[in-house]
Formats: sequence, C-alpha cells, structure tokens
Amino acid sequence: MNKNVLYRSIPKVDVLLEQESVQALIQRYSRETVMEAIHEETEALRARIGSCKEEEIEEVQQEINRLSEKIRLSVERMHTPNMRRVINGTGTILHTNLGRAPISREHMAKLQDIVTGYSNLEYNLEAGRRGERYSHFEKLLCKLTGAEAAMAVNNNAAAVMLILSSMAKGGEVVVSRGELVEIGGKFRIPDVMEQSGAVLIEVGTTNKTHYSDYEEAITEETKALLKVHTSNYRIVGFTDTVTIDDLVPLAKEHDLPIIEDLGSGVLVDLSKYGLTYEPTVQDSIRRGADVVCFSGDKLLGGPQAGIIIGKKKYIDQMKKNQLTRALRIDKFTATALELVLQEYLSEENAIRNIPVMRMITEPLEEVTRRAKSLARMLKNAHLDAEISLAPCESQIGGGSLPLERIPSMAVTIKPGKMSVPSLEEAMRRTALPIIPRTVNDTVYLDVRTIESGQFKQIVEMLGELI
Ligand SMILES: *Cc1c(COP(=O)(O)O)cnc(C)c1O
Repeated sequence: MNKNVLYRSIPKVDVLLEQESVQALIQRYSRETVMEAIHEETEALRARIGSCKEEEIEEVQQEINRLSEKIRLSVERMHTPNMRRVINGTGTILHTNLGRAPISREHMAKLQDIVTGYSNLEYNLEAGRRGERYSHFEKLLCKLTGAEAAMAVNNNAAAVMLILSSMAKGGEVVVSRGELVEIGGKFRIPDVMEQSGAVLIEVGTTNKTHYSDYEEAITEETKALLKVHTSNYRIVGFTDTVTIDDLVPLAKEHDLPIIEDLGSGVLVDLSKYGLTYEPTVQDSIRRGADVVCFSGDKLLGGPQAGIIIGKKKYIDQMKKNQLTRALRIDKFTATALELVLQEYLSEENAIRNIPVMRMITEPLEEVTRRAKSLARMLKNAHLDAEISLAPCESQIGGGSLPLERIPSMAVTIKPGKMSVPSLEEAMRRTALPIIPRTVNDTVYLDVRTIESGQFKQIVEMLGELI
C-alpha cells in the first residue's frame, strides 16, 4: 500500500503559496481566506487518502493534482453569497421555501435609489421635523381599505401578537375552536395569545360554532372577540361559523372590539379571475371588524410584513406599545410596501405590475403560448431528452387558498441517458438553480411561475447538463 507516497505528494503550504495561481488569489481576496482554503482542502485530501481503497489510489492522485483548482473554487465559494436567485418551476406561486412573493424589478429599481442613500423614513419633509415611518403608506392603506388608521410590523405573526398585547393583555379573548390555526413554522394562534399575555377562551367545536357560544363566553374579563381566517385549511361538511356581521351586534352590546386575522390580505376580488372568492380586506372593515391584520407577502404580493388596519384609537395604542419598537419594519419594507400598495390604486395596474397578481391571473392561453416558446427553444438546443408540453395545475401556496388549483401548462423533460433524480439534482446545482416538479418520472417546469425573460438562461443551463 503506497498511501505514504500519496500523503507525501500533497504539496506543502509554502510550496502552494509560491504558485502563481495562489498568489493571484491572495491579491484578489485575502491571505487569510486563501490560507483557510489551503488548510481545508489539504485536510480533506488527507482524510480522503486515509479512507480510500486500493483501487481508488489513481483517482485520489488526480485529486491531489487538482489541488490548486480546488483551492480556487473554495476561496470563490467563500466570497459568493449563498442566497441566490432560483427559478421556480414548481408552479406554486407563494412558495414559502423559495421566498414567497417576488418583488418586481421596477419596484426594486425605485427601492434601490431610496435605500442606497439617506431617506425621509422618519422625517417629515413638509414640517421639517421628525416624522413617522408608517406615514408613507398609512393614508394609502386607509384609502384602499376604508380603515381609519394603519401601521405595519415585521410579519403577520408579529401583528397578531402586537394586537393582542395592546388590546387584550391581562384579559380574555374569545375565539372559535374551528379557528385555532397553525400556520407552519410553529406559529399557532393559542401560543401567540399566551405570549401576548391574553387568555384564550375557546368556544364551539371544530366544525360548529354558534352565536350563543360567543354570547355565553363573554365575562367581565373579556377584552375582545377574535376571528381567524382559516386561510390554509378548510372545514367542510357539517359546519357552522359565526360571521363578523353576526358578531357586530353582540360586540356593540358589550362594548367589545372585533379583531380579525385575515392571514392573506387580498385587496382584489379574485373571483373575477376565475378563482374562489377570498374575503377581501375592505370587506372585513366594511362588515365591522375594528382591527384587521394580514401578511404583506402573501396574496398582497409585497414585502414580508404584518399590516394592521382599523380604528384609530386601537392603532394609536399599538404605535405606543413597547413591543412595536422590537417588531418595527425597516426602510426596505416601508419603501416596498408603499410601492406595492400604490399599484392597487388601479386594479389593472395591480394585476399587471405585481408579480404575484400577474401569475395568479395569467390566462391559460397565455401560459400555454409561453410554454410553447420555451419548449421550442429547448428542442432547438438538441438536448439528449424528450421535450414536450403537459397540462398541469399551479397552486397559490404560502398557506393561501389551499384548495385552489389553477389550470396551467408545463414543459416536460424526459432525459435520454440521465436518470430523472440525477437531472433534478443537477438542475439544483447550476449557477441559477432550477427547482422543478417531478411527475411520473418526468421533469415538469410549470411555466406560470417562470418569467419569459429567463427562458434563454434555462436553455443554456440545461444544454450544459443534458
Ligand atoms: C400566514 C398567516 C399568519 C402568519 O403570517 P406571516 O406573515 O407568515 O407571519 C397568521 N395568521 C394567518 C391566518 C395566516 O394565514
């Protein structure tokens, strides 16, 4: 066994440091990172030699010969951001693992201009004094929803917590058992309530809650009635829920506020576009909810945020709550929210200029036309694969409209020699990773969630793989 020969053939650190390629790396990056890479890579080689079998010796020798190359790749990796753009071929529009709602390039360009310099984030330019960070979008939200006041925090989970802490701390909040939602990521309504210092009074059963259940639960300690939109599941069959309209007289009688957690905040009636009706934010305010909260990056299609709207006296209480300081949004979010909300001043603009809205409402004929174009480009690239089209179904995702399926069109790839799992893995490892769906041993790219502008790159990358 000539493992000792192998160990000795690993170049010494000082020898490596004299190599021109390594010197160039030091110039470009830093001595520290290059040294770190040298140590990591030589250690890895030693471990490899230690565990390699007799028949692998030739292979390991070649790895040793490629050491400088490995060092270069390792240094470059350290300086390349791990967070990257990926192509979403899954057809799930609000994909939580893939960053939920994409922000449009146009909005990003405006945002870039604002955040790369100083801004009037908390400065009132007219009065020449301190301003409020919510002022940029508060009026807009009120105009769009009919609410008296508005603010935003980091996400909707934080919004629920802040609302309960401001309005019900030390008291009781009545909620239906059918609405004790777990959103994922361990966000459970009962746990959030506990954190906020409010006591949860569960009423009704999983499938049925009646007006009288709420009525009987109200005591001296009751501070609010809470409705939670079951945004990520549906209870169907023998069911009964109490709507906000039903609750309003009861709340009035006992002088209690109604809080509604809508989850996904839609401002547009989606049923006009062939989807199931999802209660809109405006609806909730019109029906008499006193405070409503929803996510910024679900169906609204904006940045991650928890938007809170409602009666001024409650919103003012929240703005003063110490928790708000810990949950407040930053300038990126404040800017992006204003840009996205402005689009909603016209439904047409919202559909056209907000990527999530555009993807949800894109007609099947249009998706099919684009899918044909991608398929044609892939065929022209002469890959060792069978390229075809297949009807498929897109989903909303992100815990919104769980039963909704939107008819869509996929480009399918059935590789010749390569197996589907190895193609799928290779696609994930490219410079611009592509995340597909695999169905019946075929790779599916649902074109609804892929921008036409990226077709060319997809074809180039697949060309290198198959
Ligand atoms: C998604 C959701 C939340 C949490 O919102 P995030 O913005 O993800 O924090 C809270 N409540 C409901 C009903 C939801 O659907």
